[in-house]
Amino acid sequence: MTKKDYYNILGVDKNASPDEIKRAYRKLARKYHPDVNQDDKGAEAKFKEINAAFEVLGNQQKKAQYDQFGHAAFQQGARGGGGFQGFRGSGGFSSFEDIFSSSGFDDIFSAFTGMRGEETQRRSAPGADLRYDITITLEEAYTGITKKIQVPRFEKCSACNGTGAKSGTAKKTCDKCNGSGKVRQVRRSFLGQIVTVGICDKCRGKGTIIETPCPECNGTGRVKKTRTLDIKIPAGVDNDSHLRMAGEGEAGMNGASSGDLYIVIHIKPHDIFERYESDLYCKTTIGIAQATLGDEIEIPTIKGKAKLKIPAGTQSHTVFKLRNQGMPDVHGRGKGDQFVRIVIEIPKTMTKRQRQLMEEYAVETKQKATVGKGFFDKMKEYF
Ligand SMILES: [Zn+2]
Ligand SMILES: [Zn+2]
Repeated sequence: MTKKDYYNILGVDKNASPDEIKRAYRKLARKYHPDVNQDDKGAEAKFKEINAAFEVLGNQQKKAQYDQFGHAAFQQGARGGGGFQGFRGSGGFSSFEDIFSSSGFDDIFSAFTGMRGEETQRRSAPGADLRYDITITLEEAYTGITKKIQVPRFEKCSACNGTGAKSGTAKKTCDKCNGSGKVRQVRRSFLGQIVTVGICDKCRGKGTIIETPCPECNGTGRVKKTRTLDIKIPAGVDNDSHLRMAGEGEAGMNGASSGDLYIVIHIKPHDIFERYESDLYCKTTIGIAQATLGDEIEIPTIKGKAKLKIPAGTQSHTVFKLRNQGMPDVHGRGKGDQFVRIVIEIPKTMTKRQRQLMEEYAVETKQKATVGKGFFDKMKEYF
């Protein structure tokens, strides 16, 4: 798409004086200003175009460049970093501020943009989300549990039902804006008469005013309350899970929707079990004889106890799996497993009799040549 000629846009010829250019610009800007042509997209585009043209033609240096190179003078990168770097692209509103900051245009401009900002603000102010941290045990996570928690929060004022007006009194339609929340103002500026629409300052855009504020909530429609809530923690929750309780956050202002309450669940470290996803891990020690000869031992589970068969000849750090003895899946899809690591404990002290038996065993298995000699004796014999 080729850009329109800036002189054509402003309707002036190439030899027009700075004053003529300025006059032409003002006349067009007045005609196409967005405040005068609300909801007219065509006018807005035209307004931008006019500004882009004036940004260049209203500036001696830029005009000279434009006269010499045309639009190419202002295309970024088009001239490979010659003398034209640093020019903003044409068409921004920002150019006004440079050119007319002392002329009163700023005021109109800020009224125009400021109104849009407030418009979105006043639509509604939903209540804030709240976060509550709770710590439970692994056993509680296994079974699932209902906990009572106390949440201090803003709630809808019951005395005025959130309206902010004292009960029995009604909100009154704002007499300044007749309930529209907006006021029109006609101003004079260098562009001539400009009609601006702003937020009504009397009702702050609500369209209604409270004559007698509710004494309970001072007219805000909300009161601070500490509420006791039952929270259902599902079986199988993991550490740092979040539960969202929709609408249990703070009440919104002026009857707007409430925020949500987020429960963050922490699980206390367990004395016996470590958890990885749905599986539980624990460690248990057995004696040399149990490992060698085999045994059936009792081991802890998250629900209580279970029997575990130790086969003869079990090596230290063997891991046994107890199927379905882990944590339930939080979505109800079965259970994890429990893994038991067997650690064989070497006795540190022995009775005389135990020592005698062990020595006999040592001789029998040729781990030791004679009974009753210490380690150094054995070493001597070896060499
Ligand atoms: Zn109230
Ligand atoms: Zn008003």
